[in-house]
Amino acid sequence: MDQTVSPYAAPLVDPFGRTVSYLRVSVTDRCDFRCVYCMAEDMSFLPKKDILSLEELDRVSSAFIERGVRKLRLTGGEPLVRRNIMQLVKSLSRHIETGALEELTLTTNGSQLRRYAADLAGYGVRRINISLDTRDARKFRTITRWGDLDKVIEGIEAALAAGLQVKINMVALKDVNEEEIVPMVQWCHGRGMDLTLIETMPLGDIDGDRTDQYLPLSLVRARLSERFTLDDIAHRTGGPARYVRIKETGGRLGFITPLTHNFCESCNRVRLTCTGTLYMCLGQEDAADLRAPLRGSEGNEALHAAISEAISRKPKGHDFIIDRRHKKPALARHMSVTGG
Ligand code: SAM
Repeated sequence: MDQTVSPYAAPLVDPFGRTVSYLRVSVTDRCDFRCVYCMAEDMSFLPKKDILSLEELDRVSSAFIERGVRKLRLTGGEPLVRRNIMQLVKSLSRHIETGALEELTLTTNGSQLRRYAADLAGYGVRRINISLDTRDARKFRTITRWGDLDKVIEGIEAALAAGLQVKINMVALKDVNEEEIVPMVQWCHGRGMDLTLIETMPLGDIDGDRTDQYLPLSLVRARLSERFTLDDIAHRTGGPARYVRIKETGGRLGFITPLTHNFCESCNRVRLTCTGTLYMCLGQEDAADLRAPLRGSEGNEALHAAISEAISRKPKGHDFIIDRRHKKPALARHMSVTGG
């Protein structure tokens, strides 16, 4: 660990007594897919000068680690399409080696994993989340618009072969992949992978109507209970998922339910966008600019002061609503900006 004594070594505790120990960093807003619930097809992306360089991403991440962040997740957009992303992974891995960081991980769509899985494992990444909503190639193309299922499956195989623990994230979509939830449980658990189901969140303008996609996980869980024995377990990964063990498969199944069950009381997370904007809550507009203090001086004092100030504004929680009266997204910001 960095031995220099910093006046800003104070841990990050918000006004509600929650310690912030988990930073999610969106390293790019770009993606090689256009998932229908995430992005519009004709997304416009940010100009390069606004995007933090890999060195800046390292510097700001390291400042958070100095303040007690123990878990860091790279996300996006698609993190693995950022040019030279492995340089950042490699440089952040020094914090794993020193023990300052407990976990360095990422969320990916899997399209580039065949190329990168072994390197990720080599740099101390132990677990990764891979998003996969369907194993039907035609449906996969419809949901992702641009994605190629075979490439993703190859990526998953590469991750497993590299010894990475894989968790599959599946967004539950009404009338789209509902029927695939049981086969997906069986497929994941048969390969030693955890599965987490996610409710669609009303983030960003997309081309369709969100009420058409929303499938409450309370309903999914009730249906699964007719088929399997679900035992609640205390397993936590530092994120918002609540887990059950499925007796018949022996595997773990997580539920992320921002709409049917608010999980803010135990929130330990903040999110940094690729432009250096810090969101203290996924579901609120309030944010802090860390790019100006980062670029404004070589030392980290102003940066640490801005981080402290931001954490003092972390809100108690979010309030997502999807119903027919609220056709507009709860937030204009897309998930690809804040990072999933
Ligand atoms: N490209 C990477 C990936 O596909 O995992 C990382 C970024 S992506 C925004 C992260 C996760 O957010 C994915 O699992 C995606 O399915 C999910 N996601 C995107 N928009 C969402 C929404 N409106 N509601 C729920 N989940 C969403």
